[in-house]
Amino acid sequence: MKVELTNTTKKLCVIGDPVLHSKSPLIHNTMLTALGLNYVYLCQPVPRGGTEEWLRCAKFTGYAGFNATMPHKEALFPLMDETDADARLYQAVNTVCIKGGKVYGYNTDGRGFLRALADLDTTPEGKTVLLLGAGGAARAVALKLVQQGARAVFVCNRTVKKAAALCANDPLGRLAPAGFDSATLRRLAARADLVVNCTSLGMEGTLGQFEDLSFLEELSDGVPVFDLIYAPAETELLRRARLLGHPAANGLGMLVYQAVFALEHFTDTGIDAAAMARLLKPVLL
Ligand code: NAP
Repeated sequence: MKVELTNTTKKLCVIGDPVLHSKSPLIHNTMLTALGLNYVYLCQPVPRGGTEEWLRCAKFTGYAGFNATMPHKEALFPLMDETDADARLYQAVNTVCIKGGKVYGYNTDGRGFLRALADLDTTPEGKTVLLLGAGGAARAVALKLVQQGARAVFVCNRTVKKAAALCANDPLGRLAPAGFDSATLRRLAARADLVVNCTSLGMEGTLGQFEDLSFLEELSDGVPVFDLIYAPAETELLRRARLLGHPAANGLGMLVYQAVFALEHFTDTGIDAAAMARLLKPVLL
């Protein structure tokens, strides 16, 4: 892709460790070019432990803002001058804007998930959710689901202690920790109105696969299955769900929408999210 640079081009980037695999530069530069905005978006490795030093660097070298991925999201939170409600909800920041020497922290992960869920004609309100995983992504999804009125979210994880720690973040007790064994997944699937996979099982480049997907057979007709993984485009979980007749979606929509919402913060511009999704999906596949 060709990005036009001038002496006044504003700088954005994504930081992480590792980060070289990130699709954010491709996504943001594609959007910036389509929107005719004079910004460039780079990929910036920042080692674990280097968050504060990077922030000083970004301010000094005149960055307009940046996105953060693992392991910087939590470390950035206490370094912000101001944060939005979602950053405070997750105690983590994925988007930083630098204006007048101040740093403003946002988190667009949960909103991105919610918008992608809407494309499946689903909202969390009143739903009982079978949520698989208890890592960073599961935390954002689980807290967004209960904030948006989910009735109950069963957080099923191989390491149950991690699921319990995640669930302790909801004072109203709508998050419930559970195990990841077949019997538990089958029992909870029978009660679920929505399934969300937030584990890395089935992701390209990892060896892990679901050992047993028979819990999908317990789902009621029409229960949507959402997988946060976008590479491969169809995981075994999604393939089996689709064959059983369930509406199924991968994580590409979430990836695109969280980037659209971040770009709105960076540029102070309203952006047509659906148009950007149409533009980006063929670029990313
Ligand atoms: P993470 O913090 O490393 O969490 C990984 C989760 O997967 C943990 O719950 C872990 O369980 C579980 N897991 C890993 N191997 C397993 C196995 N063999 N059996 C059972 N469970 C296993 O990762 P993350 O940041 O939350 O990301 C999770 C996935 O979401 C990744 O595939 C990532 O690419 C995707 N993601 C997508 C988007 C998007 O925009 N679409 C955004 C964020 C993340 P334990 O706790 O027991 O280890």
